[in-house]
Amino acid sequence: MEVPGFVLAAEPLPPTPLPQGEGENIVPTRIEGCRNFMNDSLFTEDVKLAPYWWDHVPRPSLPVVAPPATADVVVIGSGYTGLCAALQTARGGRATVVLDAEDAGWGCSTRNGGQISTSVKPDFATLTHRFGADRARRIIKEGQNSLAWVASFVAEEGIDCDFRIAGRFHGAHTPAQYEALGRRIATQPNGLEVEAHMVPRTEQRRELGTDAYFGGVLFSQHASVDPGRLHQGMLDRVLAAGATMIPHCAATAIGREGGGFRVEHAGGSIAARNVVVATNGYTGALTPWLRRRVIPIGSYIIATEPIPRETMARLMPRDRVVSDTRKVVYYYRASPDGQSILFGGRVSHDETDPKVSGPRLHAEMIRIFPELARVRISHSWAGFVAYTFDEMMHVGVQDGLYYAMGYCGSGAGMAGYLGTRIGQQVLGRKEGTTAFDGLPFATRPYYWGTPWFLAPAVAYYRWRDRMAA
Ligand SMILES: Cc1cc2nc3c(=O)[nH]c(=O)nc-3n(C[C@H](O)[C@H](O)[C@H](O)COP(=O)(O)OP(=O)(O)OC[C@H]3O[C@@H](n4cnc5c(N)ncnc54)[C@H](O)[C@@H]3O)c2cc1C
Repeated sequence: MEVPGFVLAAEPLPPTPLPQGEGENIVPTRIEGCRNFMNDSLFTEDVKLAPYWWDHVPRPSLPVVAPPATADVVVIGSGYTGLCAALQTARGGRATVVLDAEDAGWGCSTRNGGQISTSVKPDFATLTHRFGADRARRIIKEGQNSLAWVASFVAEEGIDCDFRIAGRFHGAHTPAQYEALGRRIATQPNGLEVEAHMVPRTEQRRELGTDAYFGGVLFSQHASVDPGRLHQGMLDRVLAAGATMIPHCAATAIGREGGGFRVEHAGGSIAARNVVVATNGYTGALTPWLRRRVIPIGSYIIATEPIPRETMARLMPRDRVVSDTRKVVYYYRASPDGQSILFGGRVSHDETDPKVSGPRLHAEMIRIFPELARVRISHSWAGFVAYTFDEMMHVGVQDGLYYAMGYCGSGAGMAGYLGTRIGQQVLGRKEGTTAFDGLPFATRPYYWGTPWFLAPAVAYYRWRDRMAA
């Protein structure tokens, strides 16, 4: 049993401008069109258009290192995928260089909501139809493995990142969805059951202080984490393992050379035996084959200013992570210190600015928790996740390049898990094998990396959600 996506749980969908506004800390104190406060701002005076997590773990200032001329392994992208691949190869004795076009961890890995699920979106029946029962079973199991992997990785590595088996309340936005959830829970495939309990609407307030849902399901093993601290813990270990991290160094071209590759960057090039592409929602012209297969979609999120403790205790009595059955999903949780709510989702058809998405997310938040109408936004930010045409993550080797990506908005656990596996594959280790190996990675005619179909697809699914509700 898997919960739908964090952005959209559906077919093709996004354009690629980077979210604007980061680096600017202040936005105008009054936003045109805000419906919730008549004469006041929805934003705190010192609102940041940057991730909440960066307050506690700023992007690291690393010593300036000149990129080497050679390496055994070049990893492109320094999120969870890239760092976990690098950790394996560096510990496996390979001279490893990690490049990022921006700061270390600038992408989704330090922007996400910190909700960890079993990640695989298609259900068992769909997977069986596509790949047969045996492969379907192994794929569902990989989702469960990824959740378990985070818990053991954090424990074994001793990473202090507020990792907690918080449990997820997944709210039904219609009575029909509640019935459907019940059927799915009752018919989980043998041997693949996950701990899940139906919560009827009459008991919902035990889980969440709202009547906005028609009941829901509790996935008791889903977890929460501080994504920034998790990323920092990974980075510290990668550096300790002897890898070199070079921020602000975009890979600009990859060519074959001898039995290996030459990775070009603005300051020169690196000759490497192996290359791992770990660019997920930021995959660009560097790797055209991959770019045609991942669909970058903006996901938007806000954090609130501190909320009184009694209010938080009423709204989030069990401190769960929360999502819902909409196709265009809203996801939220309390901050690790229990003071703020982090509320995310997709609030526009086209990509937009965190100044615009912030008030819209706020409006959705107070639809669920009306008493938060006067609580302001302290942070508003966004990032690009990578969807795929089959709603599956993909891992493999193309033209000699290793890659893992396409987590469809659910990579907080899966990205590190598959990064680890792809790193093991580079080392030729059999534990690197995954149930995703060798699966077809489809594209569509006329898709080159700019998702012209996103706006109509989002509009359609939002309309369907509204009609259903
Ligand atoms: C707002 C938001 C909320 C989310 N919430 C959740 C959640 O609660 N739970 C969940 O499971 N998932 C969530 N996700 C998704 C999750 O964060 C991602 O799936 C995961 O972090 C992907 O990790 P990654 O390492 O593959 O990619 P990223 O962390 O995005 O890293 C990719 C990196 O590649 C770099 N790069 C790109 N091109 C180049 C180049 N040419 N040269 C060098 N570097 C390059 C980029 O600069 C970037 O730093 C969320 C995402 C967002 C944006």
